[in-house]
Amino acid sequence: MDNCIFCKIVAKQIPSSVVYEDETLLAFKDIHPAAPVHLLIIPKVHLDTLSSAQPEHEGVLGKMLALAPKLAAEHGCAPVPQGDGKYTGGYKTLINTGADGGQEVYHLHMHVIGGPKPWRGLS
Ligand code: 5GP
Ligand code: ZN
Repeated sequence: MDNCIFCKIVAKQIPSSVVYEDETLLAFKDIHPAAPVHLLIIPKVHLDTLSSAQPEHEGVLGKMLALAPKLAAEHGCAPVPQGDGKYTGGYKTLINTGADGGQEVYHLHMHVIGGPKPWRGLS
């Protein structure tokens, strides 16, 4: 997509703080973090929204979800079991979809948000 900012990040036409890359996915730091840890996981293939995904994209969607806990752990946000069935730490995964879903960039992305609270605009 010619005018897509995240496609330009994939193509390295726009700089970003990349934290993970493989043949399918790119992950980088959000330019306007809402929390101490705020990463974005995107498919390299352009999909406008989560609702644009087709059955052939199930693999990439699964990879995005599987990558989130790995990156969260690498950035110090792994949930820590307390032995009583509860956890400290942790993170939020978020996919905003469409206008009413609060989506601003129309290239599918998953937010991974964590670190000590308070977080801006998120609970
Ligand atoms: P959305 O509201 O679409 O779910 O979230 C889009 C996110 O992309 C926002 O949190 C915003 O800060 C981030 N963002 C927008 N433009 C850029 C950019 O050029 N670079 C990076 N790293 N993040 C961006
Ligand atoms: Zn794109």
